[in-house]
Amino acid sequence: MVFASLFDLVSPSSSPWRQTRGHVDMATSAARVFASGRGTSLVPQTLKEMRAAPPNTKVTSAKEENARRRRALDGLGVPSFDAHLQENGLEVLRREPATILQVNVGLYCNQACSHCHVESSPLRTEMLSDEVAERIVELARASPNVSTVDLTGGAPEMNNCFRYLVEKCREMDLEVIDRCNLTVLQEPNQEDLAGFLADHRVHVVASLPCYSASNVDQQRGYGVFERSIDGIRKLNTLGYGKEGTGLVLDLVYNPVGAFLPPSQKALELAYKQELLDAYGIVFNNLITITNMPIKRFADYLHRNGEMQSYMQLLLDNFNTKAVHGVMCKDLVSVGWDGQIYDCDFNQQLGMGMQGGKTVFDIDSLDELTGQRVHTGSHCFGCTAGQGSSCSGATL
Ligand code: SF4
Ligand code: SF4
Repeated sequence: MVFASLFDLVSPSSSPWRQTRGHVDMATSAARVFASGRGTSLVPQTLKEMRAAPPNTKVTSAKEENARRRRALDGLGVPSFDAHLQENGLEVLRREPATILQVNVGLYCNQACSHCHVESSPLRTEMLSDEVAERIVELARASPNVSTVDLTGGAPEMNNCFRYLVEKCREMDLEVIDRCNLTVLQEPNQEDLAGFLADHRVHVVASLPCYSASNVDQQRGYGVFERSIDGIRKLNTLGYGKEGTGLVLDLVYNPVGAFLPPSQKALELAYKQELLDAYGIVFNNLITITNMPIKRFADYLHRNGEMQSYMQLLLDNFNTKAVHGVMCKDLVSVGWDGQIYDCDFNQQLGMGMQGGKTVFDIDSLDELTGQRVHTGSHCFGCTAGQGSSCSGATL
């Protein structure tokens, strides 16, 4: 039965939080959250869990730490990504005209998920300045190929300039994506957020790595599942996820362990059925994203001695067809400090675009067309199996 086998894939016997959040009794998690202060901030609970599991949620943003991690990845004996492309008869990656401008608005988040490739948490303070935000709007206006502005974080809505960017980009009739963690909709001072998103017809892409409360809480924190379901209900009430409204709500699945995502289409069917039957909620599309072997997920792999085997899994599943859909070809990623990268993963590894440019060094994203993409061992995460990008499977 397809449903049972998919459930196995989203319910592995070992997951990042099982070792680091063992103090949470997952069997009673869903029941207890109803008495745990839903409707109040999640931040105190997140901080409590971070204190209980400091190695998994440590704040590491220093350049030296990024360099150490890159060296650790490179030291695994994984072949050079560029050389592997050429051995398979493919060209090295070069940038095409940018159609998506992705902005990391800041690293503050009310959650501290075990797989977070940004290492966000309530302890992070890095945020976009007004000056950088205004420059981003100018660049979007000066880049005729850009059709989408993709706002990510952290919890982007809790960072400075989020609403400014939404308003300005919608005025230009650009599609705006909000990468929403759902629990933010219940944070104090965010009571009007869902209405703001609907009023500006923002495309919401929300994380829900499983339709099981225990698995979501293991990966994302105690009580997150129930708060997420409440968040989807709130969005549904406004029309999100419903036919004919034009208000798009997509959900994101990523594996809760060291394995590749299952078929996106098959998992979408299972998600839709389960969430409708159990909670009466609806959404448009399911996006499956492969876990990248960087940041917290890399720490998890190292702790469990699984880094080598995970990299081998990515390599064994290298798919030449998936190379054509990698997002770095037509996406530009901007950090909270205005630095420009080929993708969000490179941003988190501190691997700047050629020439180390910032938003103040260019007048249009079109100037970047033709540049060679800065690649590394982590790129095998985008080309394994059905391919992976911020928009989900690429095949
Ligand atoms: S909600 Fe997103 S940004 Fe926040 S900690 Fe989780 S994965 Fe990271
Ligand atoms: S990790 Fe970034 S640079 Fe590498 S293939 Fe994926 S999108 Fe491109």
